[in-house]
Amino acid sequence: MDFGFTDQQRLFCDSIAAFARMELAAGALARAHAPEFPRDVAKRMAAIGLLGVTIPEADGGTGGTLMDAVLAIEQVAKYCPRSADAIAEGNFGAIRVLAHFGSDDQKRRYLAPLIRGEEVIVVAMTEPDAGSATTDLKTTATPDGKGFRINGSKVFPNPFADQYLVYVRYGPGVEGIGSVLLRRDARGFSIGKPSKFMSGANWAPIFFDNVHVPPEDVLLPAGGFRKQIAGFNAERIGNATRSLAYGQYCFDAAREYALIRKQFGRPLCEFQGLQWKFADMKVKLDAARSALVADETTIAKLMCNQTGFEVANEALQVMGGLGYTQETLVEYCVRRSRGWMIAGGSIEMLKNRLAASIFERTFSQRPSKTNK
Ligand SMILES: Cc1cc2nc3c(=O)[nH]c(=O)nc-3n(C[C@H](O)[C@H](O)[C@H](O)COP(=O)(O)OP(=O)(O)OC[C@H]3O[C@@H](n4cnc5c(N)ncnc54)[C@H](O)[C@@H]3O)c2cc1C
Repeated sequence: MDFGFTDQQRLFCDSIAAFARMELAAGALARAHAPEFPRDVAKRMAAIGLLGVTIPEADGGTGGTLMDAVLAIEQVAKYCPRSADAIAEGNFGAIRVLAHFGSDDQKRRYLAPLIRGEEVIVVAMTEPDAGSATTDLKTTATPDGKGFRINGSKVFPNPFADQYLVYVRYGPGVEGIGSVLLRRDARGFSIGKPSKFMSGANWAPIFFDNVHVPPEDVLLPAGGFRKQIAGFNAERIGNATRSLAYGQYCFDAAREYALIRKQFGRPLCEFQGLQWKFADMKVKLDAARSALVADETTIAKLMCNQTGFEVANEALQVMGGLGYTQETLVEYCVRRSRGWMIAGGSIEMLKNRLAASIFERTFSQRPSKTNK
């Protein structure tokens, strides 16, 4: 399917693909099984200008488009799926919220090291009692005359980050929510016992025990929640692109395998039962890519998350026992893409959003209010 990319975009893709093939492909399997974020890759990506692609030049980025970052993720993931994380984290989500709402001073202290690939930032939003219901968060920011004191806890963030963009409550209700920036060495900030996601990556609970945040580290004051979530919409594109790219990686691997693997004296690609699987996978991948290009984040994330997982899982089936081993990256892509159906807005919450737009109504999810 022709997605109408310009010659310039094709050149951009070719040069990134060449880089990924030469520099990243050889270490792809090892990187996928390492629990930590690939910091070495982030530094190499920064050196060739692939971090901060979507951030204005005035803020230290390269002033490109979201689509440039999407293309970069896809090209890198073709050769090293895990390395695509470095581009996603360096272009979507917390880094863009920081670039958009941060003060000049915050951009110098927090944003610049991210664009240089020297530091990693994660969003600390989810709490033990506030998952999909984000606005139920309880972590408080209380004025202490010299800034704020942060108290509370979060679950699921990467415990190896240098910086945390923490959603906090300055006061009651949605209007009371905003965010602060802090570093892992802040006094009173601690990280609980690391645990593993199904993907093999680590997460850990984090705790704030009277952590002092000076006024200059407040990113968004009370009333900032909606702005923050708008910025988080772009995170969905980073997440959606990786899902799709992982599905494509597995499709390509299974295609190669079906051409060479013989059973009953014939290559697998000659069995109609498998040909139809490939046809179905191709339709899903092209349809999801169209949604991504269309830039409707809810539909794009929904389609790419489902497609990425379904195609990766089907490709594993085509590869039989080998697909289920850790000799290839296909099983990793299945495990990893499963998480994106939960993280950054679960499939169900995305469908809730779509239903609201279809019916042009707000459906409260809470028991105490009558649906309006
Ligand atoms: C791989 C991964 C990485 C993550 N990284 C981070 C991170 O860096 N920082 C961070 O803060 N958090 C992170 N999270 C947490 C993530 O944001 C939450 O897991 C997510 O918001 C869902 O919250 P929950 O797990 O508490 O599930 P719950 O909210 O308890 O939901 C449980 C199930 O019920 C469904 N559900 C809930 N409410 C509704 C409803 N109204 N209608 C229909 N279905 C509903 C959900 O979709 C889900 O299937 C990560 C999660 C994963 C899996």
